[in-house]
Amino acid sequence: MELCEGCIELEGRSSGLAGNDEMTLVGIGQCEGRVAIEHYRCRRCGALMVRQLCGESIERIWMVLA
Ligand SMILES: [Zn+2]
Repeated sequence: MELCEGCIELEGRSSGLAGNDEMTLVGIGQCEGRVAIEHYRCRRCGALMVRQLCGESIERIWMVLA
């Protein structure tokens, strides 16, 4: 699947960055009562992106799932 520019730009970047305008929040996962992970669907290219908000700083990044 081809990722759009917005997704390519986000992948591997810090999750402190907000998603681009094409991202729709589709689900969250919690850890100890706090939001630990957010799942987004990109409306432009259809990619499923994960924004990890917990763990070591090296893990708190944006990742493409599919
Ligand atoms: Zn995209």
